[in-house]
Amino acid sequence: MKRLTETARNKGQLPFLFKTLCAGKALPLQIHPHKKLAEEMYKDDPEDLPDDNHKPEIGLALSEFWAFASFRPMQVIRDSVRRVFELREIMGKEEAEEFMQGEVSEDKLRSAVSKILQRGKDDEAAKLLVISLAKKCKAQGDAALGVNGDEGKEDQGLAQVFGMLNDDYEGDLGAFVCTFFMNLYKLQPGEAISVEAAGIHAWFRGDCIECMANSDNVLNSAFTEISQDDLDLFNKNFLAPTQTPADQHRVPSRLFKRGESGHTTRYFTPFDEFDMLRIQLGPNEKETHQPIEGPSVFLVEGGSGRVQVGETELELKAGVVALILAGKEAIFTADADDSGMQIYRCFAE
Ligand SMILES: [Zn+2]
Repeated sequence: MKRLTETARNKGQLPFLFKTLCAGKALPLQIHPHKKLAEEMYKDDPEDLPDDNHKPEIGLALSEFWAFASFRPMQVIRDSVRRVFELREIMGKEEAEEFMQGEVSEDKLRSAVSKILQRGKDDEAAKLLVISLAKKCKAQGDAALGVNGDEGKEDQGLAQVFGMLNDDYEGDLGAFVCTFFMNLYKLQPGEAISVEAAGIHAWFRGDCIECMANSDNVLNSAFTEISQDDLDLFNKNFLAPTQTPADQHRVPSRLFKRGESGHTTRYFTPFDEFDMLRIQLGPNEKETHQPIEGPSVFLVEGGSGRVQVGETELELKAGVVALILAGKEAIFTADADDSGMQIYRCFAE
């Protein structure tokens, strides 16, 4: 149980939260404060803040799943700034100049993104630029972004993305930040990404299993009502890496060694609070999990069957959620007359 966090152990809580989520349109652009900031915020305002914990999280795709997470390398963003007139207008001429000159730096990235988000809050005219670029994107496709053959190939497909974001939230300047500054991950079912505490992200399209450290702290910056206090804290605290390689946030997965029939995949998160298991059974197939030395929660995503833990047997069908205590073997069996069973099990040990 050494990976259970102190907070969780002291309060007798699970260290993680676990849910399914369907994004029919973009969810708010946000960060979850890192531990120190969460503690400060909670001290300042214990009435209004849910808790003092950080909240790194993963999204595991159930359908094709699109998510914005962290920033593209700054050199790639610079290339977009050079090509896209509207982006320079939104940044402001001086800011755009500053952004393009000299060494890449976290300060430059933070400053550019913060100013766009602040304009989103208080500059009505800027919203018209989002709407007009979205129109242009729909009419011309990627040519609207100066993409032409090899020129701007990193931005291929982004005209569609920008148009979709404007359809979701007309005139929201978050569209500029997500489209041109951030990585867009397009995950297939069974693939997952992780977002570290204070990492910028917005889930965009599709269904996922989301698992996170046990916290409800969030600072939103676009695609919803934004409070100025939250935006100030967001702008001061989001991580601003300038050289993150694409795909850095994909979560590695391997066969779970303690699954006796080989029907379980384990996702190795970079966090202390939890790892995730995905169990896929065909009709009448069985998987035995040897004991896990910490508490776990599982969710049946599809199909039907049963689970046996010690003397207890539980019928399973889509939507069932159950807790398995530490140190227990669990035997999952899919019904013979159904299509099989898909289960997600999140654990800490
Ligand atoms: Zn989040």
